[in-house]
Amino acid sequence: MAPGSLDQSFVVEPVARLIEELSRLPGIGPKTASRLTFFLLRADEAQSRALAEAIVDVKAQVALCSRCFNITVGDLCPVCLDTARDQAKVCVVEEPLDVLAIERSGVYRGLYHVLHGHLAPLDGVYREHLKIEELLDRARSEPIDEVILATNPNTEGEATAFLIHRELTPLGVRMTRLARGLPTGGDLEWADADTLGSALEGRREL
Ligand SMILES: [Zn+2]
Repeated sequence: MAPGSLDQSFVVEPVARLIEELSRLPGIGPKTASRLTFFLLRADEAQSRALAEAIVDVKAQVALCSRCFNITVGDLCPVCLDTARDQAKVCVVEEPLDVLAIERSGVYRGLYHVLHGHLAPLDGVYREHLKIEELLDRARSEPIDEVILATNPNTEGEATAFLIHRELTPLGVRMTRLARGLPTGGDLEWADADTLGSALEGRREL
């Protein structure tokens, strides 16, 4: 038995299966998975059914915005549909969670472009796996006057920002990068709203 795993030989199959599935989730170890499973066993039918349906629906109904690749229901995401937002600014982030983090800061009123990852050649993630070509298309066809490179302040995020900077430069787009001050090596999604807000307001020219 692997260290840290739980002996499940004494639990019946449906229970073991739920523990197994829950323990695959980020931040949930075997003990928490067991606690959640036994909570659901005691919960009433309606509560566990609501959870199961929410999980199924999130996969069935949620898609990617055809313009910025943020998560959405339908063709365009709520940010792209909001015509009051500044259509000339595009903030490039790695993940949809980063959009949430930046929105929480309350200081940004432009659009987004979600790359869905960062360059990580050692893990087999190359340029073509990210929404970079789509960003170049937008820079050519939309009236963009500033691209904010808000990839994570770590090695992969910097490498990704560097590549995008190189590819967008010939198109004559002004580019900025978040101010230093975010926890180095971390992910945007973990930065608190105030820190992220100041990093956006203090962004520097590239
Ligand atoms: Zn969108």
